[in-house]
Amino acid sequence: MSAAPAPMSAADAATAAYELRKANAIARANRPHITDQPMTAKNWWKHLNLLNIYLIVIIPLMGLYGAWYTPLQKWTLIWSVVYYFNTGLGITAGYHRLWAHSSYSASLPLKIYLAAVGGGAVEGSVRWWSRDHRAHHRYTDTDKDPYSVRKGLLYSHIGWMVMKQNPKRIGRTDISDLNDDPVVVWQHKHYLWVVAFMGLIFPTIVAGLGWGDWKGGFIYAGILRIFFVQQATFCVNSLAHWLGDQPFDDRNSPRDHVITALVTLGEGYHNFHHEFPSDYRNAIEWHQYDPTKWAIWTWKQLGLAYNLKQFRANEIEKGRIQQLQKKIDRKRATLDWGVPLEQLPVMEFDDFQEECKNGRALILIAGVVHDVTSFIKEHPGGKALINSGIGKDATAIFNGGVYQHSNAAHNLLSNFRVAVVRGGCEVEIWKRAAGENKDSVSAIDSTGQRIVRAGQQVTKVAEPLVAAPAS
Ligand SMILES: [Zn+2]
Ligand SMILES: [Zn+2]
Repeated sequence: MSAAPAPMSAADAATAAYELRKANAIARANRPHITDQPMTAKNWWKHLNLLNIYLIVIIPLMGLYGAWYTPLQKWTLIWSVVYYFNTGLGITAGYHRLWAHSSYSASLPLKIYLAAVGGGAVEGSVRWWSRDHRAHHRYTDTDKDPYSVRKGLLYSHIGWMVMKQNPKRIGRTDISDLNDDPVVVWQHKHYLWVVAFMGLIFPTIVAGLGWGDWKGGFIYAGILRIFFVQQATFCVNSLAHWLGDQPFDDRNSPRDHVITALVTLGEGYHNFHHEFPSDYRNAIEWHQYDPTKWAIWTWKQLGLAYNLKQFRANEIEKGRIQQLQKKIDRKRATLDWGVPLEQLPVMEFDDFQEECKNGRALILIAGVVHDVTSFIKEHPGGKALINSGIGKDATAIFNGGVYQHSNAAHNLLSNFRVAVVRGGCEVEIWKRAAGENKDSVSAIDSTGQRIVRAGQQVTKVAEPLVAAPAS
């Protein structure tokens, strides 16, 4: 009689099943993600996100085909545009400014409306969308940015959805507040129903029951409207990181441009937005196009939105000024401001006079020796006057004794400086001021250039000097 295997108890079976599941999960987690493998002729299709391709490429193409056989009625066109703006606002005012950035608070009816019409834009659930968007802000332009423009404009626009992404690569963000929001949780759980109903069924019913255009409602207010809303909001990730100015910070890619704003219901002031993401506005000037901001403001007047957040104007201006300063510094660095005083050789006064006797056209102003040989012929005051200063301390002459030279003349003079005279009085003043760290003479900009302000050139002397250094 052979021994039969002992029957497995229920507890043992459960443990074995648990161990098996655990082993499978570990194996799955350790398996290299497809994105870690190079794309080849054999595996390229494995790199594609087929569900997304279906949702954002195939369905719109089918819509285009359908439109060919479906005349566009006037009311269907109006309804499509109206529903376009509603579903667009669901993304910009709802998904983006309310949930991803908490830039204001919304009452329950407004939240339900935004979660519904936002779902009708077919861009994923609030929860999924906001998690990626927070990673985009936290890790802008890096590998952890899910739609980094550094991977190419097309990638940031649509490639990141068409191609599979390794979820482990995307930067982690905290979405605990979203997990506590029942509207967000409900929408995430029933997302496919929300998409089907708000994306296609509802716009079709409105056109069908409204004016009998069931097919037009489905094709135009449904499929093609989804396509336009998707492409418009995708532009925030692509165009807004590629086209325009950077008035607040230029270390990363976000940019401000009116065209992007027109396409994206006001999300085009993206440089501002990345600097001040919790501000409910993207455009801060009244004349800039930001209908999302106008909508939120209107909801506030209606009692549907509250706690609208705005960054302090003082802080916004600080950023703007710092960026302007950076641009000025860059421009300053491209100009010739003359050899810095501290790099000039020191000359004895006797040597200065000696060199002039030997034919060099040197003029001493405020302790700085200038070689004006090349300039004598061009001197606006004539050759005779400039020649009369050669070999002398012309500080007083230059500063009003004979002619009160312009700011431009002082600037030009700095290009001719060749030496400083030992003990020259203004140089001594400059050295002392530099030691005391006085702003007017020692301020250095971000490119390392000394800032020479108008009227504060070293050769500019307020009180014309009378006495020349002893010779
Ligand atoms: Zn961005
Ligand atoms: Zn954002």
